[in-house]
Amino acid sequence: MLIEAISVIPQVFAPYLDASIMGRAQKSQVFSFNAYDLRDWTHDRHRTVDDAPFGGGQGMLMKPEPIFEAVEDVSSRGDAAPYVVFFSPCGTPFTQEVAQRLATKDRLLFVCGRYEGMDERCYKLADEVISLGDYVLTGGELAALAVTDAVVRLLPGALGDDMSAQDESFSDGLLEYAQYTRPADFRGMLVPNVLLSGDHGAVDRWRRESALERTARLRPDLIDTANLTDKERSFVDSLYAEEVDVVIGQGGD
Ligand code: SAH
Repeated sequence: MLIEAISVIPQVFAPYLDASIMGRAQKSQVFSFNAYDLRDWTHDRHRTVDDAPFGGGQGMLMKPEPIFEAVEDVSSRGDAAPYVVFFSPCGTPFTQEVAQRLATKDRLLFVCGRYEGMDERCYKLADEVISLGDYVLTGGELAALAVTDAVVRLLPGALGDDMSAQDESFSDGLLEYAQYTRPADFRGMLVPNVLLSGDHGAVDRWRRESALERTARLRPDLIDTANLTDKERSFVDSLYAEEVDVVIGQGGD
């Protein structure tokens, strides 16, 4: 996969993407990454990419000309046009499902905003606008990095072990089960016995229950849409019933 980013601070990508798993994935050609400086598509001496908003108000906006020229120019290179992603708090919330969808593309082009955002007409270039979450960053670069990371680790060969991306949080609509490594007794905190038993069937059942329990307690919104058997649904319902008991119990103290 080819991933490209247009930004006014293109130097911020390499330190993260050249390290560790992302670095290895680039070396083994799972993906390649190019960052472009938006200012290369300006034509004035100051290499201006921003301007004051019509109608007044604070801050500066990214002007449309350099962004249109940059996206058009980068897109025209290579055989296939890229799938163009912009970033904004007003975009579609980024989820594992979106990452899975983007992982099927051959070429992604990320356009990173800065300042108070962009002239609204720029979004005409976007195939999709993504929000990293309900908060405001100073720029789209972290969003581009987060999306790159989440997408690349889904690509075949990115993680050493091809199974490791399958069994994780959100992969089946649930949070991941609790995990433990050595020592089995750490400061009196014990690893659940079943995980030491060597009984793979029992381990699988425990893990599924752990995932269900954790999701039910921490993210009930995910339970509503998760793919559960009737038996699992009644297990979850019994957890909620238990919790009501606890609340009532505490109230009586
Ligand atoms: N004034 C805008 C925020 C601009 S922040 C607003 O209120 O919506 C500047 C840039 O940072 C944006 O153009 C976008 O590219 C990026 N950015 C900020 N928060 C983001 C978020 N939650 N998700 C994705 N990108 C974000």
